[in-house]
Amino acid sequence: MNVMPSGEETQTHCPYCALQCGMTLTRHAAEWQVRGRDFPTNRGGLCRKGWSSAELLSSPDRLTTPLIRRTANDELSPASWPEAIDFVASSLGTLIDGYGANSLGVFGGGGLTNEKAYMLGKFARLVLRTKNIDYNGRFCMASAAVANQKVFGIDRGLPFPVSDIPNAEVVFLAGANPAETMPPLMQYFDEQRQRGGRLIVSDPRRTPTAEAASLHLQLTPGTDVALANGLLHLAIREKLVAPAFIRERTRDFELARRSAAAYWPDRVERITGVPAGDLLAAARLLGTAKTAMVLSARGAEQQSHGVDNVIALTNLVLALGHAGKPHSGYGCLTGQGNGQGGREHGLKADQLPGYRKLTKAADRQHVAAVWGVEPDELPPPGLPAVELFAALGVRGGVRGLWIMGANPVISAPNAGKLEARLARLDLLVVCDPFLSETARLADVVFPVAQWAEEEGTLTNLEGRVLRRERAQPPPEGVRTDLEVMKLVADALGRGRHIEDRPSAAFEELRRASAGGVADYAGVSYERIRRDEGVFWPCPSEEGADTPRLFLERFATADGRARFFAVEQQDPADVPDETYPFYLTTGRLLAHYQSGNQTRRVAELAKAAPDSFVEIHPDTAASHGVSDGELVSVATRRGRVTCRARLTRTIRLDTLFMPFHYAGDGRANTLTHESVDPVSKIPAFKVSAARLERVSADPSPS
Ligand code: SF4
Repeated sequence: MNVMPSGEETQTHCPYCALQCGMTLTRHAAEWQVRGRDFPTNRGGLCRKGWSSAELLSSPDRLTTPLIRRTANDELSPASWPEAIDFVASSLGTLIDGYGANSLGVFGGGGLTNEKAYMLGKFARLVLRTKNIDYNGRFCMASAAVANQKVFGIDRGLPFPVSDIPNAEVVFLAGANPAETMPPLMQYFDEQRQRGGRLIVSDPRRTPTAEAASLHLQLTPGTDVALANGLLHLAIREKLVAPAFIRERTRDFELARRSAAAYWPDRVERITGVPAGDLLAAARLLGTAKTAMVLSARGAEQQSHGVDNVIALTNLVLALGHAGKPHSGYGCLTGQGNGQGGREHGLKADQLPGYRKLTKAADRQHVAAVWGVEPDELPPPGLPAVELFAALGVRGGVRGLWIMGANPVISAPNAGKLEARLARLDLLVVCDPFLSETARLADVVFPVAQWAEEEGTLTNLEGRVLRRERAQPPPEGVRTDLEVMKLVADALGRGRHIEDRPSAAFEELRRASAGGVADYAGVSYERIRRDEGVFWPCPSEEGADTPRLFLERFATADGRARFFAVEQQDPADVPDETYPFYLTTGRLLAHYQSGNQTRRVAELAKAAPDSFVEIHPDTAASHGVSDGELVSVATRRGRVTCRARLTRTIRLDTLFMPFHYAGDGRANTLTHESVDPVSKIPAFKVSAARLERVSADPSPS
């Protein structure tokens, strides 16, 4: 292996979340030093996940040889690359011959680089020839993506750089907890408040972010539409809306006005639990500010009416005239490192690169021409993630699944059921640097490179395309995801469709995206290096990129943003006498997503070793539960056992569990598969649950 000389620096980015903090990796003998880099998103700051990320590069858990389960009853055991590739290619061929190409499915990850996301979409559609590809970004900001398209005509997480945040007089964070999920971002909110700005947070938990806010709206889980409609109702009543903006830059205000009319403060207080006085204070703060931003995250989005929740927020933003002008607007704080780029370049069931649509003839024609095939050779849209998982192993469904960069056994809803479905498959292939909980169930595991061992681009929460540099080659025996796709495509006789060099894949992506909504034609590796990232759309190398959207017009056909009617509806899983609590799930400061990486980092594992459930002390007392005691949390899907963590920061009627953990404390054993009808996002944030003491509990360790 070629190892970088000691002391040499690599300017790159963190392997984890969508803030994509800039970092410098320096090798000192066998050790890596991580320093925060002065990049626009983090200005030198990193969270503890970023600081400790280099430990992954020398993890003893690293896979360095393919693993095969040679018969159903065998354990996974080491295999050579030729044997593993032959095994997979012949198994895929058998399934295609026996059951058709749509008997295969592909599930990607929101951490894959743009190059890999693009090539995985092409691998599914041209090499495997299946329509069934989706990705775990479906679990994240899919509701905001749909709402953004409907309201503004384009889906880019933030329409402005994060450096605009301090200039907003008021910021409303709806279901967002960046103090724990992306701590370096908090410096912008801190600066905003230091300049006299106000921060409003809606969250059923008094999180560290809510603690820092001027106003915390501690709503009942699943009542986001009522809250936002109530704020709009008050804004109209108090004459805080912006008639000129509504008239000149929007359409259909009457729809939103009519739906907000029934959300008078007393009623909204009854639905949401937020005092009417706080509602009025929030409406006045937002309505009297000259500039304001409303930013949503998973709290508002991961619900069975997640799209409505976001649209209720955009109705409010538009009515107050806080869009299409500097330092104002609605945005989504994307979670996964490349959640944005993944959906732009073909990982989503219905999308082609450049945010093109599989259902549009002109879009199919453009991409087919770049790919050197006839448009008819491109499959139609496939199944979104939860439906794809429901089709595993059923008659006429998916019999072979290829997973790259995802660990759904931890991160998918109703994960116990998913495990059973994965076991029914004829073939499960997993590409991962580590033996994740999902990889343990596979028939073949390909050991692949991780972030600092290959180059590639990602698109962060701002829509800024940035570049990760390679700090060292992968260990002996490890291939990159692109190389694995190429080897399997070659074995299937379709290798011409796959590029295994990131630079070549990116050049092709640029051509495929040219003229599309997410146009990367003008983005080059050189330009990204020179300009510290490039904001899409960027149609030409000579022309400017687009840090700020909508200043002149919105991206709809007529340039106007849209209002919609939205009504509060019950969540899909409503508490009742048997399951009286709202269970909500989320992330911790120490861990990222399924924890497949961060649970292997000693400092992080020590900081947050085990699953737990947050319970209000009064609720705990009524159940005879003490702090640190083992408790059982049950839903209609199953039951988990974990320690009780008593805190007054949570509502009396709500329980919270982090979703990073495997085994007895796996939160997604409890969640359900109901999805938003449009975005198909699972409703992770609201499950009806029961709390019980566990008898004969050993003392807390
Ligand atoms: S996890 Fe996110 S916030 Fe933390 S260092 Fe990495 S990119 Fe930055």
